[in-house]
Amino acid sequence: KLEEGLAEPLLGKKENEDYTTKQLAMELVRLTAPDSLIVLFGTVAGLGAAVMNAYIPKFVGKGIDFAAIEANHSQFIMAMAHLIIVVVANAVLVTCRGGLFSVVGVKLALRVRERLFASLLRQEISFFDETGTGTLSSRLQADTTALSSSVGIYINVLARSLMQLGVVTFFMARASWRLTVVTLVVVPAGKFVTQVYERHYSALQKHVLTCLAKVNGTAEEVLSGIATVRAHAAERSTLAAYRSGLMDVFKLQAKQCAMYSGYAGFCVLVPNFALVWVLFLGGHLVLVGDITAGILVSFILYEQSFAACCQTLGNCVTMFSDGIGSTAKVAELMNREPRIVATNGVMPRHFEGRVELKGVQFTYPTRPDALVLDDLSFKVNPGEVVALVGLSGGGKSTVMKLLQRFYIPQAGEVLFDGRDVGDYDERWLKRRVAMVGQEPTLFDRTIRQNVILGMEPEDGVEQIPTQEEIEEACRMANAHDFITAMPCGYDTLCGEKGIMLSGGQKQRIAIARALIRKPSVLILDEATSALDAQSEALVQEALDRCLQNRTVFVIAHRLSTIQCADRILVVNDGRLIETGTHTELLERQGIYASLVRRQMQGPLDLPAPN
Ligand code: ADP
Repeated sequence: KLEEGLAEPLLGKKENEDYTTKQLAMELVRLTAPDSLIVLFGTVAGLGAAVMNAYIPKFVGKGIDFAAIEANHSQFIMAMAHLIIVVVANAVLVTCRGGLFSVVGVKLALRVRERLFASLLRQEISFFDETGTGTLSSRLQADTTALSSSVGIYINVLARSLMQLGVVTFFMARASWRLTVVTLVVVPAGKFVTQVYERHYSALQKHVLTCLAKVNGTAEEVLSGIATVRAHAAERSTLAAYRSGLMDVFKLQAKQCAMYSGYAGFCVLVPNFALVWVLFLGGHLVLVGDITAGILVSFILYEQSFAACCQTLGNCVTMFSDGIGSTAKVAELMNREPRIVATNGVMPRHFEGRVELKGVQFTYPTRPDALVLDDLSFKVNPGEVVALVGLSGGGKSTVMKLLQRFYIPQAGEVLFDGRDVGDYDERWLKRRVAMVGQEPTLFDRTIRQNVILGMEPEDGVEQIPTQEEIEEACRMANAHDFITAMPCGYDTLCGEKGIMLSGGQKQRIAIARALIRKPSVLILDEATSALDAQSEALVQEALDRCLQNRTVFVIAHRLSTIQCADRILVVNDGRLIETGTHTELLERQGIYASLVRRQMQGPLDLPAPN
């Protein structure tokens, strides 16, 4: 199912171009298409209900004529019997219609959420740099809810109203074409006002959603950094910023309220005006003997039903405008083509783990004017341990990100075994090139699930890790003992962002997560600075074990790691300025030697002096 989501085609819309209402309506039709059979049954039930509903005034009129004018008792009883049948049939069919269309709405919500999430998962990393997580989670929650509930209700109500409108008009015309013409004259006037209203309301709704996403983003940012807010006693200014965002939303919503109430009043006025008009003319027709009193009563009931349908359709427009605003936002994300495509690339039989950067030039898409890597080239042989060293901000982590194809360099190449990183099947490569970052992210799943992240059956792996393999990886990562000491062992839940575990424990699970892949290339951001001495020793021991039998890139902070590396690359301002072993570089008396001299006791990548 995820694959289906991933393969979603575009709607013929170019990036940065707004969807037209027609395209969005087509998108909704496309999303509802898998349930077309349910929609069909719902429509049949709806049509049946509309016909039954239209028969009610007819038998009421007949009943009145038989009772009050013709005084025919048996005919009157027959009319009442018919009336009871159509009333019951109407209720049954309405139940079927409502149930079926509600199911369509609920299934639509499911489909939209799944497809949207699938689309988010395939976007390139720079997309997440550009779009805040607040906006994305608002799309996933608020917009999908608005879309599916408004569209779900909309399908039901719209279908009902349209069908009823059609059938009632037909019955009205049969009762009296003169009165029908009079009734229908009022409609075009209402339609014009509706169109104007729809256009303005929809634009406003889009604006409201954007503002809400911004406010949500502010709140999320603050909540995730609550310790910083508390530490600086910045609650008041934070609340003020949040309130100001809410006020922006409020101003727009106040406008929406004014628009909606005016429109609702208009929607009530038009049909009531039509009623007076029909009674005036219809009464005249009865007086001249053109129609019976029963037919006039039937007609008034039809007219009431017609007016109710028109009013409901008007409300539908509002709901649809809400839905369309959300659909536009959701569709934009759902159909966004990632700039870095994970094509079905090659999966060679042998992978040695030779790595090469050739004349790489790179700037982050969010900061296109700041050159981060400038003509960077180096080669690393299989099995070599390479330490990247340099001042903070020099571009070391960026090199690691390019090796993982989070970003694509503007010039130059990133090669594995002589082949461009983009030529490989992404999922295949991610099992051979593993990464342990500075701040490992654990998810609110069990420890086992966190260790085998990306290697579960759904991930399409060739071989799902066995319990023995999981334990072996955890032993190597110095994690097995603390995991088994927990009450639920490998089934212990890690909590949101791994809150139940200490920094060192998280780090060791992250190491196990990399080792379980038996990677040919391992990328380590050696982060032990935030750990206490005992945790650091355990993590360090695990990291040292990782260095064997594979190509390793390590952003080295500790002198001991740097000394054991086969080669040291000194990166500064995005350029490779020195390369060699620890001893060679010391002898060269260059930047590296001065770094070592200056920071013999501490980490090597202290912030660059300004
Ligand atoms: P190092 O790992 O050597 O400390 P980085 O590779 O993290 O250096 O950063 C190199 C430069 O790129 C810095 O100026 C940093 O501000 C910038 N940078 C890092 N990540 C991003 C990002 N996601 N978006 C924009 N600029 C970034």
